[in-house]
Amino acid sequence: MPLRSVTAPFAYAGRVLRRWSRGLLAILDARPGLICVAGVLCAIVVLASMIAWLIADHTDRIERAHGRAQSVALLVAGGLSANMHIYDALLDDMAATRDPEAPLADNVRERIRFGQAISHELLDDAFIVGANGMLEAPLDNPSAPSVDLRDRDYFKAFARGDSHDLYVSEPLVSRIRDGRRSIALARRIEAPDHAFEGVAVLAVGLDNFQRFISSFESRDVVAVRVVRLDGVVLGSAVHPDNAPSLATKEVADGAIERIDLARVKCCVAHVSGAPLAVIATPSTELTLGRWRSQAIWQGALAAAFATTLVLGSMALESVMRSRYEALAELRKISLTDALTGLSNRRALDSRLDEEWHRASRNNRKLSILFIDIDRFKLFNDEYGHAVGDEVLRSVAQAIGAQARRAQDMAARYGGEEFAVVLPDTDAPEAARMAERVRHAVEELRIEHAKSDAGAVTVSVGCTTVTATAGVEHAVEKLLEAADAQLLIAKASGRNRVCASVLDTFA
Ligand code: GH3
Ligand code: MG
Ligand code: MG
Repeated sequence: MPLRSVTAPFAYAGRVLRRWSRGLLAILDARPGLICVAGVLCAIVVLASMIAWLIADHTDRIERAHGRAQSVALLVAGGLSANMHIYDALLDDMAATRDPEAPLADNVRERIRFGQAISHELLDDAFIVGANGMLEAPLDNPSAPSVDLRDRDYFKAFARGDSHDLYVSEPLVSRIRDGRRSIALARRIEAPDHAFEGVAVLAVGLDNFQRFISSFESRDVVAVRVVRLDGVVLGSAVHPDNAPSLATKEVADGAIERIDLARVKCCVAHVSGAPLAVIATPSTELTLGRWRSQAIWQGALAAAFATTLVLGSMALESVMRSRYEALAELRKISLTDALTGLSNRRALDSRLDEEWHRASRNNRKLSILFIDIDRFKLFNDEYGHAVGDEVLRSVAQAIGAQARRAQDMAARYGGEEFAVVLPDTDAPEAARMAERVRHAVEELRIEHAKSDAGAVTVSVGCTTVTATAGVEHAVEKLLEAADAQLLIAKASGRNRVCASVLDTFA
């Protein structure tokens, strides 16, 4: 493939971009205020995007913190569930093999000890409570004196026949193990006719239970709580890094704590096989702490960027404005005659061109006056060049004062020659205008000893033409026609107007 056809699209794109940038520059040149508006809009977009991103990041972090806490809750619930199944099986065993003569048979004791060993050693004790509420055969001290346990919540529940499932008691103070705090896992013992025969109990030491929960401790959660389904808190692990005040409270406070499970919104896992649930509290404060510090520096960065954008656009606007003003000034200078302050030859040419085209579109009339100071060379010779300059200024002012309509234009053609463009002006009006100009200069009454009139005067050549499209060098032809009339005026004695009317140019 030839190289040119490969580069052609790029060259085209380059041309289009150049054209666009030139167009954009032209718009901005004319309205530099747009730069400031664009800068402020960009700054708003930057800030709005940053705020939207920070909000999304905030939501995302909270969701992830909840997700991690839910995982911890599920993990603890899974661990507990495994133990609860073992304990339930042991309780079944104890209830099924109950012998009133020997409440905990040796083989059952062995199985309990084995169960104790494989279940994180949570168990403190195992015993039977008879139908009369008296303790029978504790695991470790079978010959211990019996105690009355009729007031225990598990005994009351089973004796009333309220429950036939695994029962988990509130935290209680042991009467046979030196007041150790524990919870009881209990099952009803029934006769074949379902009559109440007692309760099989496994005592779980609260400190063991607490250690078990703490083994799942994670920085992702503030606290993990194991609760009964009625909201009684059985144990909790609080990460001291995440919530030191809460940790101190938990250690100091041994009272039974209750949670309204209905109000817990997230991160709850139910323990299968037991009426228990695990609640993990997500460490949103920690997560949000990290988010906050990140939001502060990112927000500061975005604010600095937005401020730079606004200040930069303001600076650019001011540069563009001064550039525009300087260009306008330059343009004005380039189109103005320095001595007289009238439009110069360049401005005259372009204006004539413009007016010709405008007039030719509708075949309208266009008139021009060609004005020349009479015997000006002699004036300079007599009064000096500096006075001649003063006169040029006065004459220019007199001519300019006559070009009153907005569309009229008075210009210095060069030397001591002037021109007045009169768009949409017919021959009689143009001749009247020429006469007014001649009269205005005469009325200046500037002494000119070497002139026939004794004063500074002008001769005026006036031409009116009906503009038509398609005429070549129309402007030059128009000026030539007016110049020809001027020459006639000069030849006819000066200080006068000669006019011609042309239908169109040949
Ligand atoms: P005519 O009536 O035929 O026009 O005679 P004239 O002397 O005015 O014409 P001519 O073309 O012979 O001389 C024009 C004079 O205008 C010559 C020059 O000294 C003078 N002139 C041209 N430009 C300036 C200028 O900027 N300042 C001054 N003071 N004089 C100028
Ligand atoms: Mg002349
Ligand atoms: Mg002259």
